[in-house]
Amino acid sequence: MEIHSLYELYKEHFLVDTDTRNIRKNTIFFALKGDNFNGNTFAEKALALGANYAIVDEKEYKTNSRIILVDDVLQTLQKLANYHRNQLNIPFIGLTGSNGKTTTKELIHAVLNKKYNAIATKGNLNNHIGVPLTLLSIQPEHEIAIIEMGANHQKEIEFLCSICEPDFGYITNFGKAHLEGFGGVEGVIKGKSELYTYLKENHKTAIVNPDDKIQVEKTETIQRIFFDRDKIQLKATNPFLSIDYNSNTIETQIIGTYNFNNITAAITFGELFNVPEEGIVNALQTYVSENNRSQIIEKNNTKIILDAYNANPSSMKVALENFAALKENNQLIILGDMFELGDESEKEHQAIADLASSLQLENQYFIGEHFYKVTIAHKKFKTFDDFKSYIDKNPIKQQSILIKGSRGMQLERVLEFIS
Ligand code: ATP
Ligand code: MG
Repeated sequence: MEIHSLYELYKEHFLVDTDTRNIRKNTIFFALKGDNFNGNTFAEKALALGANYAIVDEKEYKTNSRIILVDDVLQTLQKLANYHRNQLNIPFIGLTGSNGKTTTKELIHAVLNKKYNAIATKGNLNNHIGVPLTLLSIQPEHEIAIIEMGANHQKEIEFLCSICEPDFGYITNFGKAHLEGFGGVEGVIKGKSELYTYLKENHKTAIVNPDDKIQVEKTETIQRIFFDRDKIQLKATNPFLSIDYNSNTIETQIIGTYNFNNITAAITFGELFNVPEEGIVNALQTYVSENNRSQIIEKNNTKIILDAYNANPSSMKVALENFAALKENNQLIILGDMFELGDESEKEHQAIADLASSLQLENQYFIGEHFYKVTIAHKKFKTFDDFKSYIDKNPIKQQSILIKGSRGMQLERVLEFIS
């Protein structure tokens, strides 16, 4: 079936789904294949559950006139998403970077929602499946779209740009994340810069942080808009960020100086799209982060900075430095392994252990096989269970705690041990 014909079916309800466990009525079911499942086998079930059509790519599952056979379901999803994108006459903002994409996306969304019916990527749906699903979730009433694009290897951002075709692009930072797939930091810079290449070739606009030399250098030949540092300054971090913006002081509920750039990006996009100043201020004052991304949790008398959503050498470094800068009494850090670092893993874990000991925080626990392998001045545990047994005998008493590790470490489990 041609994409434009499929688009006619999609336009009936503007709904697509890929999982029969939470499928919606009148949707089009795309039978994707995963490592452990073959969506084709669920096509009939999808129809039984209320889908209007199912798209499959294995002949034997085309058992019904409402089941449509294509060569490749994933490619069809991607093409339909791009087709839809091109029917929509609204601005598209594309975000990528090593750290801070989701936070920045949420902040921009909060700001733009003050004036527009804005839509942004849900959660972290930022890959070759998530981006098309995000695009296909855009409804005719939406006025602006903010799309998070993630990557762990070269050419991925190029591909996602070809589907999403952003009019404006922002790279949050070039950090040490997914080093394995990218082939080191240079590889990360090259990979993320595919967004700039797209913007340049298509005469679109980059938003640039003037303090980031790489961003400045890589966007020299592109139409660009810089953050206005005369208007937007970091006033205090106690630990929530206060920001001077024109004649306002924005008292945020956001921690971590690294978030200053994320907030500045949101203000810059707000101004670009003429959101009134009081709307920008209000959106940033009321924004609260979710999903273990730098949350502050108060439990009895203990203050916990829970940053268990993910970790890599650059985000670990800023989180540690920020925590140390709070200079509270009796601080404790609980750090978990950083994943996907390939050959750099040992070196990077050692660097974080060294940084932690140089910061002279009294109490430090390191959890995971990677940290276990390196020299650590404080206590280390090979597994979470080892840590747990230790804590059973030596309960946590500190009143200011930083918890950070890669997603797979699930360090939010530590919360149970803090009474
Ligand atoms: P993912 O690759 O999982 O999609 P992401 O890029 O969307 O990650 P966020 O989820 O927004 O990133 O933030 C993850 C963590 O990265 C934060 O909790 C914080 O520790 C760190 N971080 C956020 N913004 C920045 C930034 N601008 N520079 C460096 N580190 C940051
Ligand atoms: Mg994200």
